[in-house]
Amino acid sequence: MTHFDYDLFVIGAGSGGVRAARIAASHGAKVAIAEEYRFGGTCVIRGCVPKKLLVYASRFQDEFEDAAGFGWTLGERRFDWATLIANKDAEIARLEGIYKRNLDRAGVTIFETRAVLEGPHIVRLVKPHKTVRAKTILVATGGWPNVDPELEGAEHVITSNEAFHLKALPKRVIVAGGGYIAVEFAGIFAGLGAETTLIYRGPKILRGFDEDVRDSLMEELPRRGIRIVTDKVFTRIEKTAGGLVGHVTGGGRLEADEIMFAIGRSPNTTGLGLEAAGVEMARNGAIKVDAQSRTNVESIYAVGDVTDRVALTPVAIREGHALADTLYGGKPWVTEYEMIPSAVFSTPEVGTVGMTEAEARAAHAEIDIYKARFRPMKGTISGREERMLMKLVVAAKGGRVLGCHIVGPDAGEMVQMAAIAMRMGATKADFDRTMALHPSAAEELVTMREKWTPPKG
Ligand code: NDP
Repeated sequence: MTHFDYDLFVIGAGSGGVRAARIAASHGAKVAIAEEYRFGGTCVIRGCVPKKLLVYASRFQDEFEDAAGFGWTLGERRFDWATLIANKDAEIARLEGIYKRNLDRAGVTIFETRAVLEGPHIVRLVKPHKTVRAKTILVATGGWPNVDPELEGAEHVITSNEAFHLKALPKRVIVAGGGYIAVEFAGIFAGLGAETTLIYRGPKILRGFDEDVRDSLMEELPRRGIRIVTDKVFTRIEKTAGGLVGHVTGGGRLEADEIMFAIGRSPNTTGLGLEAAGVEMARNGAIKVDAQSRTNVESIYAVGDVTDRVALTPVAIREGHALADTLYGGKPWVTEYEMIPSAVFSTPEVGTVGMTEAEARAAHAEIDIYKARFRPMKGTISGREERMLMKLVVAAKGGRVLGCHIVGPDAGEMVQMAAIAMRMGATKADFDRTMALHPSAAEELVTMREKWTPPKG
């Protein structure tokens, strides 16, 4: 009988890998995990968690401004980037410690090194050099921010990886891209006081989101001092004595102290030995897997961003958990990808779940739209102009709520709760029967009575 050192060897200690390792070990499997950087992966170390901390920091500005209308007089305000980054780093170190301890307590063997595949059952650890054999291997190496290597001067730009460790808050910053990361970081930089420009290649940011959400942010972000440059990309980045100059299509130039690229992320598969092990990949380097997260090689599985299915932390966690339960817990199940809620932590925030209006129109013969745009109560006294958006997309036949889209304070929190009802198949009548919680913004979700009709003409 072939001898294996481990039942399961996990490469990558991010959200998906750690969950799979811990659950597999709790089911009695002999598990090892290798991580070349820090435990916790993108989400904990240089993604969701530190990002949200910076978002909180950036929103104090609003509170200070709004306070005046409520009678407060504030003293001198000063923001210190170094304090924020040091406190953020301490919190991330604390979380990383918890991740490691949890693995340890679960009985998982930890290797703090890069690991490379050498065959369907063989993993080579780089430092110390060692080869181990595992019955099953899970690749959970996540993704990596894209920068166009052909772009002249690309070496001068940063990505979200570096943005978390800047020595100082740039006075002028340009963020390239129009997706989650670009919009979130533009909000962070602007809220903290940097002169911020967002440059996007299309006419309207957040492609793929509901059109009303996109329109709403195109209106609200400039109100917060974010300059949005559309239909342009960088053709060359130049370093000058005064900072950086980004040359753009059409001949313009934009000056800044930092230029951050947030133009998507690619699966982290380079140099992993996947070819040697015979694992099939898509053209963008993503590992191809089936519903059970199994690759074309029977003993090798992959979960999370490296598979380029839905690049969200909770999805990777589910995929890792399902795999461990299925292989070692005698409880087979697969991740379901319907009604995944998500938030863009811009300011104002976006929360969304289910179909956009356009998707629903394509999938259903007839749909009804309910929407409200209003000034949140706090804005009445503070004088803030910002409008909130609430939108429900409903199937005309049967009344099922297909989509819920919110822009405004706590949009993510509200959408998480709406997602439960929608996952259960709630109809507009169910929403209407639900008693409103007054006064709140969320009550709009259960009090919208009038179907929206497009303006004539
Ligand atoms: P996204 O895919 O969300 O956005 C990429 C953006 O870059 C799009 O606007 C895209 O334009 C643009 N783009 C792509 N290629 C180029 C190019 N060559 N030149 C110029 N612009 C380009 O990626 P992100 O990097 O923002 O985030 C990666 C993923 O991480 C997200 O999709 C999301 O799944 C996840 N994430 C989730 C967060 C959350 O839940 N809050 C937060 C951060 C990340 P176009 O639309 O025209 O293609």
